[in-house]
Amino acid sequence: MLAPTIPHRPQPDSLWRAMAARSPVTDAPVSTGSPLARDLSVEVAIIGAGYSGLAAAYALQKRGVDCAVFDANPVGWGASGRNGGVVSSKFRLSFPSIASTYDLDTARRMHRLAHDGVRVVEQFVDEFKLERARFEHTGSLRCAHTERAFASIRAEADWVRTQLGDDSMSVLSREAITHETGSKGFVGGVLSADAGTILPLEYVCGIARALTAHGVPIYEATPILDMTRVQEGVMLRAPGGSVRAKQVIVATNAYSNLTQATSSYQRELVPFRSAMIATERLPAELDAKLMVNGRSYTETRRMMKWFRKVDGRMLFGGRDAFGKEGQATGFDALQRAMVALFPDLANVRVEYGWSGYVGMTFNALPHVGRSDDVTTFCLGYNGAGVAMASLIGQHAAALALGEKPELALLAQQGLRPVPFHSLRAPGVRLVAAWYQFLDAVGA
Ligand SMILES: Cc1cc2nc3c(=O)[nH]c(=O)nc-3n(C[C@H](O)[C@H](O)[C@H](O)COP(=O)(O)OP(=O)(O)OC[C@H]3O[C@@H](n4cnc5c(N)ncnc54)[C@H](O)[C@@H]3O)c2cc1C
Repeated sequence: MLAPTIPHRPQPDSLWRAMAARSPVTDAPVSTGSPLARDLSVEVAIIGAGYSGLAAAYALQKRGVDCAVFDANPVGWGASGRNGGVVSSKFRLSFPSIASTYDLDTARRMHRLAHDGVRVVEQFVDEFKLERARFEHTGSLRCAHTERAFASIRAEADWVRTQLGDDSMSVLSREAITHETGSKGFVGGVLSADAGTILPLEYVCGIARALTAHGVPIYEATPILDMTRVQEGVMLRAPGGSVRAKQVIVATNAYSNLTQATSSYQRELVPFRSAMIATERLPAELDAKLMVNGRSYTETRRMMKWFRKVDGRMLFGGRDAFGKEGQATGFDALQRAMVALFPDLANVRVEYGWSGYVGMTFNALPHVGRSDDVTTFCLGYNGAGVAMASLIGQHAAALALGEKPELALLAQQGLRPVPFHSLRAPGVRLVAAWYQFLDAVGA
């Protein structure tokens, strides 16, 4: 039987791609692997070469376990090479909500996991000398768009300090946030000190290069077309060869539907399109006025926007449920939202626009677990996966080896598909339209 041909897709044309280390031969970001072209046998096979899959490979390599990584595309082609590069220590579900839904001890364990994620990013950067990824522990500033939103994030910061003993969050007045951001659009904010910024594609490619140097094979342009349970393990089939493994880790997240082999994992998620734009380099006086402390910034609207500066360019991102990948309409809407917050940018040219899919889950938390005795999965970082996937991929590796890592609420036994999954696209559009309405009326 002829294997179906899956087109080899290059990295999307983003600012990250333009800034990445490039091959002098192909002018593409430096690649780490070639396609699989033979049959292979490994202890653990990992599908997906984003942060999750590579973090899993790292943990296995550290324990001396023979493993290999397979991706249908170049390393970091998924969300890991497209994101905003905000390294955060939080989940979409807030810690007070976790405590009220579960209990204080669970909130404490989740809080520890969230901060562990940032420690793991620091560790990768130090151990693999990823200077090019430019990780900076700048803190992240949450900017309130209404007094009500300000009161709510202040109360959350207060709760985290008194109940969890975490005093890394501090409140900024209207004057302070106006000075810091250069925008008059906010009434106050909360700074989380344990957060930072990174160049996301350099980070993922840097980890891949280091793993390759440590002997972990990474096969690019190698879609896994099917997965079959065999005696003592699993058999994976790719166009150029097959892979026999004792265990498999599925780290395909919001791109799991690339092939039928992994598509059942897509039903755990509601993929949400997220888009970003990057301007030309700002004139010196604007550069000196906007985002003077060079942190990452998010706002409190339900259809949240975020922004940061890189090399004097403004980066502005947001969830855009309506457009398809790469569609210009979403970028125009982002530019309008950016100018509404920063009128000084009205005449500044947008040079890059790109988008990708974020894996949202029903309970607003990542899921990691075993779907059967040979398969482990990790997915659903709800738009906050730079640090979390770097951590959870390692915990997925531990699970695959039969260990019991601390996962608190992230642990899941078996797959639990989103109810009415086939209605997710119209559902996402409805919810997004409702959120946009609430944001517009300031509710
Ligand atoms: C525009 C955007 C902005 C974001 N901003 C931020 C941010 O600022 N901060 C933050 O913390 N998070 C952010 N996120 C989320 C973050 O990027 C993700 O949570 C994280 O990258 C997930 O990593 P991953 O390794 O699990 O998945 P991915 O990086 O998506 O990797 C999945 C890989 O699986 C491969 N694959 C899929 N199916 C197969 C198959 N059958 N065979 C072989 N390979 C397959 C794909 O090619 C892909 O490379 C953002 C996401 C987007 C899209």
